[in-house]
Amino acid sequence: MENMWSPWRGIYVTSPKGDKCVFCEKARNPNDDEANYVVHRGHVAFVVMNIYPYNNGHVMLMPYRHIPDILEFTGEEMAEMDALLRLSIQAIRSALSPEGFNIGYNIGTAAGAGIAGHIHQHIVPRWNGDTNFMPVLAEHKVISEHLDMTYKRIKDSFRRLV
Ligand SMILES: [Zn+2]
Repeated sequence: MENMWSPWRGIYVTSPKGDKCVFCEKARNPNDDEANYVVHRGHVAFVVMNIYPYNNGHVMLMPYRHIPDILEFTGEEMAEMDALLRLSIQAIRSALSPEGFNIGYNIGTAAGAGIAGHIHQHIVPRWNGDTNFMPVLAEHKVISEHLDMTYKRIKDSFRRLV
């Protein structure tokens, strides 16, 4: 468990800095949801696959608004993040039958947040003995094919639930 959060450190090192936020890009382009791996959109928050997954089925929930901290959530954002968390767990369970989950926020770069300006919550499904996932999928092509397949399964799962 103690290594659980460290793989996210440095993941977005090559992302553009400043006002070009990759999450805001996904948030404001609903026509590109498939290319952006957006699995579900709520009123004030949405769910997207992590394209640098720690594990198969790793998704992130976030508000559409570019805010850095959960203390800035409106009541509506708080409520929808909570609802989307529960929905995501149901959808991932139905799509991938994981044996467990790691769920949480990295708030601030000191905590390992790759995109610290846009708060997001990680949901990582876990299976017994899954710790070798990343080395196995180290080749980029393998990861993208795998992502596409997992994206479809989780998205279908959301469709059935809502
Ligand atoms: Zn943003």
